[in-house]
Amino acid sequence: MAHAATTRVQEHIGDPFSAEPVIDRGQLEEIFQDIQDDLRYDHELNGCLNCGICTATCPAAHYYDFSPREIVQLLWTENLEGIYDAMQEKIWACAQCYTCAARCPFGNSPGGLIMLMRETAIKHGMESAKNVLRPFSRVMLKLISTGNQLAPDMINPDHFADWGPNISKVDAPLKILRKAIPMPTLNTTATAWEVNLKTSIELYTIWEMTGVLDQLETIDENLFDVITDIMDEKRDDWEDFLDEQDDEDDDD
Ligand code: SF4
Ligand code: SF4
Repeated sequence: MAHAATTRVQEHIGDPFSAEPVIDRGQLEEIFQDIQDDLRYDHELNGCLNCGICTATCPAAHYYDFSPREIVQLLWTENLEGIYDAMQEKIWACAQCYTCAARCPFGNSPGGLIMLMRETAIKHGMESAKNVLRPFSRVMLKLISTGNQLAPDMINPDHFADWGPNISKVDAPLKILRKAIPMPTLNTTATAWEVNLKTSIELYTIWEMTGVLDQLETIDENLFDVITDIMDEKRDDWEDFLDEQDDEDDDD
């Protein structure tokens, strides 16, 4: 007797008790493919003994419901639903310290694999990526638009009102630390140092060409628009400067 063709592969993934939309299996495959297609993937995953050494030495595993062993096993066994689930929360617990990579007997880099999963979460505009990166929008604005890092003195309640009351806990020990390490860069509220216009534009062009700005647009369109406006102005200023130089050369 002929049997109808059946499959035990679940086509749509979802929690029957949740109002969240189900995830299409094709989307899960696309996400995993993006992780796997990265050139670093084969270098960072060589197999897994499931020995747990990475988790035993992982500082994040001490404080969070997080295990690099679990993440590596999900990738090694190609557990698409589990990978997607881990990308909702767990991968953001990693401190990117790479202690795991130094200890793994298989030469894996769980921290490096987690970095790939994070980059893929950003590429796919996952809510988890947006939520994690939202408090850092001001830092990204500063870094990309000036080519400079956040100055330590900027980490205070005035500049980070959106961090809520917990910012005062961050602020208190920093004041003591600043006095203990009186480096000139610790005493500014503007930028840690001045980046000239040409360098700033070159940095921006690198971020543009390497797809960093596309990723930024995916996770925060408003921030992307603000940064684009600032950089357009800088590019105009640079063109004006070059024109002035040409005029001066002509006068000579
Ligand atoms: S990633 Fe390495 S250290 Fe971690 S469980 Fe697998 S083999 Fe062990
Ligand atoms: S890189 Fe991440 S997973 Fe690896 S030991 Fe550090 S915190 Fe843990």
